Amino acid sequence: MSHEFDHRLPEELIEFKNVVRRFALEEVAPVIGDYYERGAFPYDVVAKMAAMGLFGLPFPERYGGMGADPLALPIALEELARVDSSVAVTLEAAVSLAAMLIYRFGSEDQRLGFLPPLVAGDRLAAFALTEPGGGSDAAALRTVARREGNDYVLNGTKAFITNSGTDITSLMIVAAVTGTGAGGRAEISSFIVPADTEGLVVGKKYSKVGWLASDTHEVALSDCRVPAENLLGSEGRGYAQFLEVLDEGRIGVAAIAVGLAQGCIDESIRYGSEREAFGRRIGEYQAIQFKIADMEARAHTARLAYMQAASKHAHGEPFKKEAAIAKLVASDAAVLNAREATQIFGGYGFVNDSPVARFWRDAKILEIGEGTSEVLRSLIARELGVGAEAER
Ligand SMILES: Cc1cc2nc3c(=O)[nH]c(=O)nc-3n(C[C@H](O)[C@H](O)[C@H](O)COP(=O)(O)OP(=O)(O)OC[C@H]3O[C@@H](n4cnc5c(N)ncnc54)[C@H](O)[C@@H]3O)c2cc1C
Repeated sequence: MSHEFDHRLPEELIEFKNVVRRFALEEVAPVIGDYYERGAFPYDVVAKMAAMGLFGLPFPERYGGMGADPLALPIALEELARVDSSVAVTLEAAVSLAAMLIYRFGSEDQRLGFLPPLVAGDRLAAFALTEPGGGSDAAALRTVARREGNDYVLNGTKAFITNSGTDITSLMIVAAVTGTGAGGRAEISSFIVPADTEGLVVGKKYSKVGWLASDTHEVALSDCRVPAENLLGSEGRGYAQFLEVLDEGRIGVAAIAVGLAQGCIDESIRYGSEREAFGRRIGEYQAIQFKIADMEARAHTARLAYMQAASKHAHGEPFKKEAAIAKLVASDAAVLNAREATQIFGGYGFVNDSPVARFWRDAKILEIGEGTSEVLRSLIARELGVGAEAER
C-alpha cells in the first residue's frame, strides 16, 4: 500500500533547514560573489560545509555519515541554492551522484576504502558519464575499458565533469564500454578511478555562463590502468547503475532549482520594498506584485513536487516519473523566476554584482544537466505508456 504524502516537515528537519539557511546567509552570501567573479573554487566554504556534515547526510554512520532523513540532502541543497548554486551543485555532484554510486553498488571493501574521506567532505568525487559526442544518449558512449590480466585499461574522453579538477578531488566514477551485449548493444560498466591514476588527465576548465564557482573540466583517459577490484558491481551493470542514481540525483537538482527560484522571490520582495519609481515603491505596483505572486506559485508547486518524489523514494516506492516531473517543473520555475527577478531589478539586474544576475546565469543549466527537459518529457511519456502501442 502506498503511503500518504505529508508535506509538513518534522520538527528536526525544520530546525536543520534553519541551520543551513543561517549558514548560507552568514558564510556563503558574503563571500561567494567574489569567488564567482574570479571563477575560483570556494575551498573554505566547502570545508565549512564538510564540517557541518553536509557531505555525509544520506550515508550510514559506519562510513562516517550522518544517517540523516532522506529529505535532509534536498533540503540542504535548496537552502544553499537559495543563496548560491555553485556550492549546491558541488555538494550534489559529489554526494548524490559519485559517492552514492559507491554506496549503492560498491562492495563493502570498496565502501570502507573509498567512502570515508568523501563522506567527511575532506575529498570530493566526480561522476564522469557525459562525453564530447553526447550526454543525453548515454548508452552511446565511446570510452572503452579493456581487461588486461588483473587490471582494466581505460581510454576515452569525458566532457563537462563537475568536481573533476579541484585540489581535493580524490576519484571519479567513470562509465566505459566493456563489451557487446545482447542485440549488439554496448555493455557499459562503471569504474572507480583514483584522481592520481597515471593516464587520467584533467583537461581545460570550461568558460561557463553560470555556476562560475563550481569546478567543471574535460577529462581524458589515456591507457589509464585501474585494478579489476575497482569495477563497481559486475561488468555490464553500469548503465542500470547510472540510471538509478540519476533518478535520485534529479530530486537534488529539482531542490537546487527550487532554491534558486526562492532566492529570486526573496530578492524581489526586498528590492520591491526599496526601489522607488514615479513616487512610489515599485512593490506597490500590481504589475510587480503579480510577477512575485507567480514566482511564489511556481516555487511552491515545484517544492511540493520534489518533496513528494523524495518521500516516495524514502518509502521504497517507484519514483522515476515523480523525480522527472519535479526536475522538469523546478528547472522551469528557476528559469522563469530568474527572468522575472532580473526584470524587477531593471538595469541593476543586468550587472554582475547583483544577486539576481547570478541567479539568471545559473538557472539555464538546470534545464540541461542530469536529463534535459526534452529527455525528461520523453521519460514521463514513456512511464505513462504513451506510444507503447505504436512500438509493438
Ligand atoms: C556545467 C555542467 C556540469 C555538468 N556536470 C556533469 C557531470 O558532473 N557529469 C556528467 O557526466 N555530465 C555532466 N554534465 C553534462 C550534462 O549532463 C549534459 O550536458 C546533458 O546531459 C546534455 O547532454 P549534451 O550536452 O551532450 O546534449 P545532447 O545530448 O547533445 O542534446 C542536445 C539537444 O538535443 C536534445 N535531444 C537529445 N536527444 C533527444 C531526443 N531523443 N528527443 C528530443 N530531444 C533530444 C536535448 O534535449 C538537447 O536540447 C554537465 C554539463 C554542464 C554544462
